[in-house]
Amino acid sequence: MNPDAQYVLLLLERSDQQASITGQQVLLDISNMRGVAGARLYGNLTDRQRAASSMYIEPTTWPIVVVFPPHGDRMQRLHWGSWRTSPVMRAVNDYLRKRMLPLVPPTYNRDLESSLWQSLSHDVQLVEGELNGDKMAALREYVGVLAKYYPGEQRVVRKLHQLLHWLWGRNATTLQEFSVKLTGKPDQPHGNDTYISDVVGWVACRGSQPRYRGYTCGLWQMFHSLTVAAEAANRSMNSGLQSSPSSPATDPLEVLHAMRSFVRHFFGCQVCRQNFLNHESVTMETDVHDHEGAMLWMWRVHNSVNRRLSGAFSEDPLSPKVQFPVESACPLCHGKVGWRPGDVLYYLRQMYGAGNIV
Ligand SMILES: Cc1cc2nc3c(=O)[nH]c(=O)nc-3n(C[C@H](O)[C@H](O)[C@H](O)COP(=O)(O)OP(=O)(O)OC[C@H]3O[C@@H](n4cnc5c(N)ncnc54)[C@H](O)[C@@H]3O)c2cc1C
Repeated sequence: MNPDAQYVLLLLERSDQQASITGQQVLLDISNMRGVAGARLYGNLTDRQRAASSMYIEPTTWPIVVVFPPHGDRMQRLHWGSWRTSPVMRAVNDYLRKRMLPLVPPTYNRDLESSLWQSLSHDVQLVEGELNGDKMAALREYVGVLAKYYPGEQRVVRKLHQLLHWLWGRNATTLQEFSVKLTGKPDQPHGNDTYISDVVGWVACRGSQPRYRGYTCGLWQMFHSLTVAAEAANRSMNSGLQSSPSSPATDPLEVLHAMRSFVRHFFGCQVCRQNFLNHESVTMETDVHDHEGAMLWMWRVHNSVNRRLSGAFSEDPLSPKVQFPVESACPLCHGKVGWRPGDVLYYLRQMYGAGNIV
């Protein structure tokens, strides 16, 4: 079953041949949809009637297609009676379109990689003296979560593994040594397949003027995508272990700790560093108990920074600071009495998941 599924469709059908072919076609169509999983239930009349009654459905005409929405919301009967693929899929599509639209904007490799490059080639280079002690530990922690969860191109992931391996082999290093290792020059020429591009450019993070957006925008996106990747990895590990999907098999604070260490020791924006360490990051340990909590924590903290910076000098007038995601982008995220965290999680997975990185 699709592990990202939020909506589960159940097809209750007769077990004759026509029904089962249509059922298979519908399941095949559903398997291409993000966030949806499907299952068929067929058997003798008594079994089907029993299943339908347990869902409080009057078992009159077969087939019956029901949907189970996320967060224990009410199950709904979408379709019954006609067993042709097109009316079934129309009913399914109409329902999902109302619930899940609009689709999220893509996350761009170029934004992620440019920020990654700047963080390692510029910010790390700002430290005074050697990279040793806490600074070395922070760098290992940062490169470590990147090597594990960076969702972009494989050549970048290979380079991160190479860097991590090298960092683990020493207690201290000079900035120059690290820079040589990062750029691969002069003793390790760039392979075609193991490097981080030093060409910096922005797509979604492009500001209306060069002084706006760019690096910190891509950095936020990278941190969000790391929490999403860690949650996905934890879920797939748990499914192998047959335990509850929410119980952490890996440390849910791993990415957040690495982010905090990066900000503390390397982040070049002094004011960001002070605000983040003194205010925003203090709730990390008390608020986060699982991987979904880590995704939500990052989202909340980012929104509180957005609130603080709304109208500030650094705000790009063409990209005003908003509480994310705005209602038109994710109507379901906004409930009558505040945010609906389950739908926010869904939105974050959609936006920052590996499948949405282009
Ligand atoms: C840790 C940290 C602390 C910072 N602190 C400061 C500070 O104190 N003072 C200061 O002037 N600048 C600070 N910045 C920079 C600032 O937050 C913005 O990055 C910068 O102003 C550029 O803004 P932007 O419009 O590109 O959007 P950004 O806020 O950088 O957001 C980038 C993109 O992320 C998405 N997004 C927005 N909000 C959320 C959310 N809640 N959850 C998920 N995705 C979201 C949107 O697609 C957005 O375009 C900080 C940056 C970081 C990484």
